[in-house]
Amino acid sequence: VTSNQAQIGVTGLAVMGRNLARNLARHGYTVAVHNRTAARTRALVEEFGHEGDFVPAGTAEEFVAALERPRRLVIMVKAGGPTDAVIEEFAPLLDEGDIVVDGGNAHFADTRRRERALRERGIHFVGAGVSGGEEGALNGPSIMPGGPVEAWEALRPLLEDIAAKAADGTPCTAHIGPDGAGHFVKMVHNGIEYADMQLIAEAYDLLRTVAGYEPARIAEVFRTWSTGRLDSYLVGITAEVLAHTDAATGRPFVDVVADAAEQKGTGRWTVQTALDLGVPVSGIAEAVFARSLSGHTGLREAAAGLPGPRGRALDEGEAARFADRVEQALYASKVVSYAQGWNMVRAASEEYGWDVDPGAVAAVWRGGCIIRAAFLDRVRAAFAADPALPTLLADPGFAEEVGGAQQAWRETVAEAVRHGVPVPGFSAALASYDALRAGRLPASLVQAQRDYFGAHTYRRTDRAGSYHTLWGGDR
Ligand code: NAP
Repeated sequence: VTSNQAQIGVTGLAVMGRNLARNLARHGYTVAVHNRTAARTRALVEEFGHEGDFVPAGTAEEFVAALERPRRLVIMVKAGGPTDAVIEEFAPLLDEGDIVVDGGNAHFADTRRRERALRERGIHFVGAGVSGGEEGALNGPSIMPGGPVEAWEALRPLLEDIAAKAADGTPCTAHIGPDGAGHFVKMVHNGIEYADMQLIAEAYDLLRTVAGYEPARIAEVFRTWSTGRLDSYLVGITAEVLAHTDAATGRPFVDVVADAAEQKGTGRWTVQTALDLGVPVSGIAEAVFARSLSGHTGLREAAAGLPGPRGRALDEGEAARFADRVEQALYASKVVSYAQGWNMVRAASEEYGWDVDPGAVAAVWRGGCIIRAAFLDRVRAAFAADPALPTLLADPGFAEEVGGAQQAWRETVAEAVRHGVPVPGFSAALASYDALRAGRLPASLVQAQRDYFGAHTYRRTDRAGSYHTLWGGDR
């Protein structure tokens, strides 16, 4: 190993780290590579050494020595304890001003803790959310770095080179904010991804169960939708999945897949964090709960015989009109769940003093990540037009579209309820829309109840101050 020659280093060479290192090397950077188990490092250089300039390092000391200074090193290991172990291994070998990037899926609270601890040692710590899976890591992910601005400036040219590019050529990376801001925003991205997937799944269920369409036909419907405002990576892959036939049985592929959804936990983190911040993210929460419910096979078996309708087949004309209404319900629900995601980013930004630019978040998600879609450029434009926009639903363009869709949205939810098709995502989004626009909510009654049994006091609509009523009887 020649000293000080690599511009950046990657430690942790499983699928993500290996592909990120290759992406950097393919862009002309000299990349030091290291992994706890040295066989992975050797395998990377043997298989992909011809793609660029790699400097394999067998030990942490060799790895650190290979880096030009100030050092830039990316940790891409299993999130949680392993990330702390790797930081502890490397920190004593580093100098003031060096930059440590955690590209794993860390919880933002861990990132805040690690950033504080390393700052005390003069080391810049950057928590960077990386989205797009292994394919994205290789060919261009969406990268959401949070940390000191000096560190961002030192990383910026590299990150902009390796990130996905939006349709207008802009790299899908930006300095999100200090300490945990990047990992927070990555977490909300994953929450929105859960909500998007659930809404698409509900649309599929309605088309299948109420309209009576077969999967191949539904694939066609999704393909048509993806030429319009619902154009997105997720709608595109949905069409491909639904058009796919299982080779072994000749049946629609979706019918041979067990219907118990799994989760790695970032959706759950989003909901837990939203509860702490007091921000309703019902679209994301329903999506997380829907996955949980699907996995409770015992409960489902026990309830399978309960009475109720299950579906209805419509004639051709009715089915086509119904499908059009489902498109409107899907779009309106999507706008609501994105609005909820941005409310959460704003609340955290205020809570932690991050000063996150909501439009920049949308811009970074336009390419590379799982929720990438033309739609996000419209979200970016809405916040660019009014950075103080209180909710996406207040943007004149989105307000008009959702207002135009609301009747069809209601009819879709009503039809789903009538025919026994569960649509927790569609109906939670609609309830959120109706609650926000209601003007007056029955929360007044809840406040009165709280005052009655717990003397919790209430505020009045006609006078300032807090009040308690001496409720009658034996209390
Ligand atoms: P992973 O399976 O999460 O982790 C495996 C890597 O971590 C290996 O390099 C392993 O080294 C290393 N490691 C585990 N424990 C360690 C320890 N105590 N000390 C040192 N190294 C340790 O790998 P991955 O799927 O490539 O993901 C890497 C990170 O990116 C994770 O934080 C993940 O959540 C995040 N991420 C993954 C995806 C994805 O699509 N997979 C997408 C976005 C983000 P050994 O080879 O020695 O075991």
